[in-house]
Amino acid sequence: MSVQQMVLESIGMLTLFGQTDKYVRFYHTKAWHDARQETLVRQHYLCQDCLREGKTTVANTVHHIIPLRDDWSKRLDQNNLEVICLEHHNQEHPEKASSNKKYYKREKQIKKRNDIFKFSSNKDDEKIF
Ligand SMILES: [Zn+2]
Ligand SMILES: [Zn+2]
Repeated sequence: MSVQQMVLESIGMLTLFGQTDKYVRFYHTKAWHDARQETLVRQHYLCQDCLREGKTTVANTVHHIIPLRDDWSKRLDQNNLEVICLEHHNQEHPEKASSNKKYYKREKQIKKRNDIFKFSSNKDDEKIF
């Protein structure tokens, strides 16, 4: 591989990281935290997919119906946000089914952390899809 190729390759990778970073950062903004909270309260912390199936399941994950990557402008749009349980979230993201196992673990860890550090909230730490 030539030096020129290597340089081009690293620029490509940086761009990729930059993009991912944008989505990661978004989940740490106050704007997202507020929008998410509004959705949870508006939908009473109930999985909307479960409701449609006639079940009531308490959930605290807020899902983008149109993913961030598909329409960045709808990231804070209440019409694009929905409370969803982990089981339904997996169905919405079948391509990520294996990595969701990690997500379950992480959720548990975050919950534990919240128990210890009651003053800091990590609830907006949603996994990016
Ligand atoms: Zn559900
Ligand atoms: Zn989602």
